Amino acid sequence: MARSSPAQAELAQERLPRAALNRENLRQTFALARYIRPYRARFFSGLTTLFISAALGLAFPLLAGSLIDSALHPGVATVPLLGALSLNQVALLLAASVTMQALASFNSALSFNRVGQSALADLRRDCYGRLISLPMAFFAQRRVGELTSRISTDVAQIEGALIDALPQICRQTVFLLGGITMIALTSGRLTAVMLGTLPLLIAAAVFFGRRLRGFARETQDQLAATNTIVEETLQAIASVKAFANESFELGRYERANARVLAAALSAARWRAVFVAFFIVALFGGIVIVLWFGAGLLQSGGISPGQLTRFVLYTTFVAGAMGQAAELFSQLQKTVGATQRVRELLREPTEIAVGSPDAPDAAAGPTPARLRGEVAFEAVSFRYPSRPDVAVLHDITLNARAGERIALVGPSGAGKSTLTALLLRFYAPESGRLLLDGRDARDYPLHWLRGQMAIVPQDVLLFGGTIAENIVYGRPGADDAAIREAARLANADEFISGFPEGYATLVGDRGIQLSGGQRQRIAIARAILKDPAILILDEATSSLDSESERLVQVALERLMAGRTTFIVAHRLATIRTADRIAVLEAGRVVELGNHAELSAKPDGLYRRLSSLQFGQTEQLAADGGMIPP
Ligand code: ATP
Repeated sequence: MARSSPAQAELAQERLPRAALNRENLRQTFALARYIRPYRARFFSGLTTLFISAALGLAFPLLAGSLIDSALHPGVATVPLLGALSLNQVALLLAASVTMQALASFNSALSFNRVGQSALADLRRDCYGRLISLPMAFFAQRRVGELTSRISTDVAQIEGALIDALPQICRQTVFLLGGITMIALTSGRLTAVMLGTLPLLIAAAVFFGRRLRGFARETQDQLAATNTIVEETLQAIASVKAFANESFELGRYERANARVLAAALSAARWRAVFVAFFIVALFGGIVIVLWFGAGLLQSGGISPGQLTRFVLYTTFVAGAMGQAAELFSQLQKTVGATQRVRELLREPTEIAVGSPDAPDAAAGPTPARLRGEVAFEAVSFRYPSRPDVAVLHDITLNARAGERIALVGPSGAGKSTLTALLLRFYAPESGRLLLDGRDARDYPLHWLRGQMAIVPQDVLLFGGTIAENIVYGRPGADDAAIREAARLANADEFISGFPEGYATLVGDRGIQLSGGQRQRIAIARAILKDPAILILDEATSSLDSESERLVQVALERLMAGRTTFIVAHRLATIRTADRIAVLEAGRVVELGNHAELSAKPDGLYRRLSSLQFGQTEQLAADGGMIPP
């Protein structure tokens, strides 16, 4: 299957949503709140204790001021609502309030984390579930790195917002509004002074927020690009080494890395300016309040305790404003991340795109098993990712149950594409695919694929044990069935030869096994699945004669009694095929068995097979030929 070109991937990166905080975006973000619903009791408990803790935090300057006044003026009413309290009583009250604040904060932190982590685990599961059920066309247009980043980076961003930013926003809002109210309650003039600077602060916060957001997004995008390079090179590490392209790859990485650094440093500059600004705003605010407050104190307008309150509340208010920019940018990043995640969750799945996964009632009930009759009726096709190139033209091809059909033809003729249509990875653009005389779309998709098995050209195993890799053909099969399948696939012997037998780990993608061993495991997997229709994409690379024989015998056992489509490279399988379809540029140009096609003078098959025969005769002469 063709992969998307780097240019396409860059385009996809370009198209990443830039989230503005408008109503529609926020509405979309809150649509994800349904992930919190199952945990709402704990969420509201967290929210309640958060507000309690913030309120107690707000009471702190009040009590601290009272402490000073009760020391200076014993017996005078110093604590609002409670009247005159002694120094020790106020201290006790302060201690109690701090303790309660700690307890409330503990509960809210724990609750938000629990709710957040649980909701995000659900979200990750849904993203992954959606991702693997998307149609093949989706994957042809995107890079793996970009998709994995949706599950990791974007969800992590949402996590940060839910667990850190949301509680912070609530807390800081309480501090901001509460602080201003408390100051206003005691001195209108001081409040006026403080609020006079507010528009300036807000404008600055918005300005810095924008800048920081831009750079943060740039850094994020560049970082994603470096991750893609790492992923791609690790996936193809053997090619990287074989071509001795380490330095080329390192160069590519270095350039991408330099872009990350540049973006991060620009962000750092703005952040530093912002920090400096924050210091000025915070301490400047305090100085102004102190100055006015000290004047008031001098003229007897307020008490020392009240001045203390003012100063403390001012730090609260200034702190809240300082955080606003950061929180604002966090919120914007989160909206961007939620958009990408929501986009993914809204992508129509394969089932939705192709046909309903429920059998069409008019077509009759789904049988227990397919007999294996396959008919391509005037099928034409082009890949959705390359709509201007017609890959298959008007293909008509029949297979009766149990027949072997070999597909041969030059590279790029459309052989693999035909098998992809059979697996319903894609739907024909025109024409029909019939299975047991019924339109393939009238069968439930998963059931249908359950009736087929593929032994691919490059067998990539999953990184678990051999037994796990075989059981992939029929999850839940018992050990005896796994062994039997391995025996039929001529794999039992080499597997039992390993010290750990079936529990042997195959290494990442099976690299600890030889090509022939991997193929036999793939065959065992297919045998275990017991499909009605089999797709064999023969390996082009030849195995040594003994492996070749073992694989061939295993394949014969696997093919017995099943309709088989063979993307053929081996002479043996072509010879015994009931029919050979010769494809050229997306058309069936010749159709018949080996003898018929060989008899055609100037036929493409004759030309292709004379090439093969030549090779094989050579092989036979070397003693490597296996009898068909
Ligand atoms: P080979 O023997 O080399 O595997 P093939 O006969 O199996 O070749 P296909 O893989 O079916 O050929 O490819 C047929 C044509 O479709 C080729 O021109 C190929 O470039 C194109 N093609 C294959 N996969 C895709 C895809 N996912 N998106 C767009 N075009 C594709």
